[in-house]
Amino acid sequence: MGKQVRIQAKLPAGGTNIFTIMSRLATEHKAINLGQGFPDFECDEKLKELVAKYVGEGKNQYCPLSGLPQLNQTLSTKMERLYKMPIHPAKQICVTAGATQALYTAIMTFVNPGDEVIIFEPAYDCYTPQIRLAGGEVKPYQMLHPDYSIDWNRVKDMVNDKTRMIIINTPHNPSGTILSKEDMECLEAIVKDTNIIVLSDEVYEHLIYDGEKHQSIMRFPNLFEQSMAVFSFGKTLHATGWKMGYIVGPEYLVDEFKAVHQWNVFCTNSFVQFAIADYLAEPKHYDYLPSFFEKKRNTMNELLADTPLIPKVAKGTYFQAYSYEEVSDLPDLEFAKYLTSEIGVAAIPMSPFYTHAPKDKVIRLCFAKEEKTIESAAERLMKLKR
Ligand code: PMP
Ligand code: GLN
Repeated sequence: MGKQVRIQAKLPAGGTNIFTIMSRLATEHKAINLGQGFPDFECDEKLKELVAKYVGEGKNQYCPLSGLPQLNQTLSTKMERLYKMPIHPAKQICVTAGATQALYTAIMTFVNPGDEVIIFEPAYDCYTPQIRLAGGEVKPYQMLHPDYSIDWNRVKDMVNDKTRMIIINTPHNPSGTILSKEDMECLEAIVKDTNIIVLSDEVYEHLIYDGEKHQSIMRFPNLFEQSMAVFSFGKTLHATGWKMGYIVGPEYLVDEFKAVHQWNVFCTNSFVQFAIADYLAEPKHYDYLPSFFEKKRNTMNELLADTPLIPKVAKGTYFQAYSYEEVSDLPDLEFAKYLTSEIGVAAIPMSPFYTHAPKDKVIRLCFAKEEKTIESAAERLMKLKR
């Protein structure tokens, strides 16, 4: 290697995320990949046709920073329909390059060096590095298997003058749990009369089961005045590779967000926005999602019932947590690697989602898969012995 200049690393080198690590291992061992969260089925042909149509029609130039007006109108109508919250299409929405970029920009916009940010662990893996990049300090609240519940009195004790933001995620990746109306009311009581911003990661808003209702931050008008909600078209449209999403909030927060977004991305690709604007204008294109994924969850539960893995039945998301305590004493990363290389099914360990990982023997499996994929995985998992 030639000469290298000295650099001050902002994040540790080699911090490859667990999804990349496990997907790589899955490919290497030809394992069935129930690790990284992505569907193994195609998105709707109609949606693909719309994308092709708009590329063909030449919708290939820049669109407004906040998003294509038609798309923002579709989203505003959808949110009012679902959460009874009027959202101004041009002033309260900003379309982003996926939820990850929405989270990054929101954190960069509002978190300053020395600020504290409360997150609930196991937490989706991008929050911590993003907070650190902004110079903020991560304050993790530890949730434990099997309940993954939150004692809001403890959260209240974590709040102080330095608390700038609280990040919530419902339905929750990786545990598959959801926040209840009572949880949201406790949060509302904690942040009331403070300058704390709530960043609500709701990318799995439509993946909610057993007749439960998604408690979007938009259902709580007072709380919403100091909050922003993040969404991902990747989850809703079975198109994780498109990396398209959006953020919603009160105008004064969205304005600040856009001031940063302008120098970060400016706008996202136009033809996909045209296509999504048409597609999501029809509620049937998202109303089917809870029963569609609930069926897959049930299939996985039925097929894995004879394995020694014990499920924490998912209330939301397309992930389910499984305890392997009856199978092995290995730490979870080692066990996930063993499952991938020896049993032929890739999983995600829970520990990378914690700052200080507990000793829980839990892995996450993704059920956004064709029935035959789940069947083949179940067959392989039958090899596990108590
Ligand atoms: N938040 C959560 C909880 C997620 O699970 C994911 C990815 N699946 C994201 C954010 C990022 O979404 P995107 O792929 O749109 O960036
Ligand atoms: N969100 C996906 C998951 O939880 C993975 C996203 C990624 O690979 N960065 O599995």
